[in-house]
Amino acid sequence: MKVGMIGLGAMGIGMAKNIAKAGYLTGVYNRTATKAQSLADELNVIAFPQPEDLAVNTDIALLCVSADNDVLAVVERLAATIRPGSIVVDMSTVSSDTAKQAAAVLAEKQVAFLDAPVSGGVEGAKNGTLAMMVGGDPDILEKARPVLESMTRCIMHMGPSGSGQATKAVNQIMAAGVNQAVTEALAFAHAQNLPMEKVIEVISGGAAGNWFLQHRGPTMTQGIFTPGFKLGLHHKDLKICQSMAKSSGVSTTLLDMSVADYERLMAAGYADEDISALYRLKVID
Ligand code: NAP
Repeated sequence: MKVGMIGLGAMGIGMAKNIAKAGYLTGVYNRTATKAQSLADELNVIAFPQPEDLAVNTDIALLCVSADNDVLAVVERLAATIRPGSIVVDMSTVSSDTAKQAAAVLAEKQVAFLDAPVSGGVEGAKNGTLAMMVGGDPDILEKARPVLESMTRCIMHMGPSGSGQATKAVNQIMAAGVNQAVTEALAFAHAQNLPMEKVIEVISGGAAGNWFLQHRGPTMTQGIFTPGFKLGLHHKDLKICQSMAKSSGVSTTLLDMSVADYERLMAAGYADEDISALYRLKVID
């Protein structure tokens, strides 16, 4: 089974390395070609000059790019040359509607599409321990599963096209709430003049412990906001969640607060920082 990977950003690079380690990776494509060439040299795979070349030379095309329009643009280009019977798996975080649209474009070419967003951060991508939520035909998932298992520790089939992305929206709302809770609590600890390293260690071991506190607590409290997960990308996800929640009549107080806070940070030039930069709005020196 020949596999190609499109999008070698913070997530895609770790994913590509793990697919290569499992012996499936034929080649990579990245919009900025130098990144693709240097990873291809390192992994001894092909750097495809265009998505169309990757489509014609692989059985499974995986993608992890930024936003809805980027996914649709890449899918259109794949559709130009892709062979019937191929599989496209999108691991970006986009809307359910975009997933359904991509599936429809590819179905016209007799190509199957899975929406398969992930959670677990850059650490999960690097270590092959991502959680993956999948929408689409379950038989197609079984065909792609050996490849997807090289990047994940959990794969869950959620239902038809779009349901992987709907599940990821649940995750993003929860992540926004966790970010609010952790940054506010740590700003409070700072104001109490507590030893921050000890606060993070002892609380991580108890009932309020969580991934975000453990992985981002030590850096945010030192003023380090290297991504990680870019705040501008989480904002993009939360706007999708807001519109999905609005159309289903769900109240979203916490979500709305996070969107407003991120917009303040983005206006101040922090869109490319990690989401833990929310700490900037909470802490008073
Ligand atoms: P990133 O570091 O900003 O990388 C984005 C990648 O997409 C780059 O390789 C970029 O190419 C490529 N790209 C963007 N627009 C494109 C287009 N129109 N055509 C072709 N390639 C395009 O982002 P990331 O953190 O890897 O995130 C990627 C996706 O995974 C996003 O949907 C994000 O929401 C999701 N995600 C991220 C995390 C996380 O912790 N970072 C966790 C789970 C899910 P260039 O190199 O040319 O810019």
